[in-house]
Amino acid sequence: MDHFLYRNGALHAEDVPLAEIAATVGTPVYVYSAATLVRHFRLFDEALEGLDHLVCYAMKSNSNQAVLTLLAGLGAGMDVVSGGEYQRAKAAGVPGDKIVFSGVGKTVDEMRMALTGGVRQFNVESEPEMRVLSDVAVELGLRAPITIRVNPDVDAMTHAKIATGKSENKFGIPIARAREVYAEAAALPGIEVVGIDVHIGSQLTDLAPFEAAYLKVAELTRALRADGHTIRRLDLGGGLGIPYAHSNQAPPLPKDYGALIKRTVGDLGCEIEIEPGRLVSGNAGVMVSKVVYVKSGEGRDFLILDGAMNDLVRPAMYDAHHDIVPVIEPALGLEPAPIDIVGPVCESGDTFAKQRLMPPLSPGDLVAFRSAGAYGAVMASEYNTRPLVPEVLVHGDQWSVIRPRPSVADIIARDHVPDWVRDGSTECDS
Ligand SMILES: *Cc1c(COP(=O)(O)O)cnc(C)c1O
Repeated sequence: MDHFLYRNGALHAEDVPLAEIAATVGTPVYVYSAATLVRHFRLFDEALEGLDHLVCYAMKSNSNQAVLTLLAGLGAGMDVVSGGEYQRAKAAGVPGDKIVFSGVGKTVDEMRMALTGGVRQFNVESEPEMRVLSDVAVELGLRAPITIRVNPDVDAMTHAKIATGKSENKFGIPIARAREVYAEAAALPGIEVVGIDVHIGSQLTDLAPFEAAYLKVAELTRALRADGHTIRRLDLGGGLGIPYAHSNQAPPLPKDYGALIKRTVGDLGCEIEIEPGRLVSGNAGVMVSKVVYVKSGEGRDFLILDGAMNDLVRPAMYDAHHDIVPVIEPALGLEPAPIDIVGPVCESGDTFAKQRLMPPLSPGDLVAFRSAGAYGAVMASEYNTRPLVPEVLVHGDQWSVIRPRPSVADIIARDHVPDWVRDGSTECDS
């Protein structure tokens, strides 16, 4: 469920017409609903009721400072994957003991930052990383709390670019070698083992892969305890999918996911962490774009928008489907017709949808990409010198720009032209 509905024929974000935001801020623009963010975070929190737990929002899905501050206010922890994200979490008021640090390539600087600033745990992904972390912690006179991310070798049955739990993926250590690696961890002076971590992929639309992974984690918990390790925390990752196409069957609900967690690992007496990203932020956002041209090609027509792959890369990168709907509800009786929906960027990959059934649209009309709140704005770039897409947050009938669109002058001014380029001394003198 989200808060983007037609009222009197106009698509609204909560109580605000999207057309009003587009007229003021321009297009393309991302618009988020605070009510949806709150609702989705709470669904997870409630799904784990009865277990000692912390929901650590995977902020890579949408890390706008306003979104983070809102979720931090609800008591959310954060899953961070870089020093930059760590600093964002701290700036949003998240205490260090609610921040888990994930990622396969943590640098010494990032480790030092989190150890001195406070961190709930590092989710360690390899032995070399664990040894470096131990050294950094010893140097600071500390011990780094860690879980080790195990790769359970289950098929998440999702898009190859977002599957992370198969043995051929770069993530974690093979679960078969876990006991050996935990033994090494226990011997490192700067390391304190607190638990186990697993994250098998993103946009999972079936609970079965989670079940397979969590049963393996439960078994490993028992084995590691028998080996003498303290396993008091299980980080079960994120990955629950959302319905991108409203025609599709709905993916599992957080409450069913919560019940699965209780069933598979609930009796181990562990503190449970989960790291949902997409399910918190995905359906909390739309991207609004304007039709620039309608072009007739050979055998097919093109709807050319002012939004492009640099603003929303998911279709180009993951073959992702987004429902694309007109902001003004089409009049009854208008026949939809198939059309290719594309952006203006000079790449054939800049195609949002092929032969999509759309009502007739004209230049100047607005469309909204649904389910664009996760992995949308955070993945945007300024390719083709298209200013970074702005973001707006709506709450009831109020709304604010939470990241303005930079001017092209700002973009140009960020580059530096050295004097020796400007004065022409790079001309070949031979
Ligand atoms: C990306 C990621 C998540 C969030 O995944 P979603 O599919 O957005 O829920 C959680 N944990 C880790 C380690 C990740 O890399």
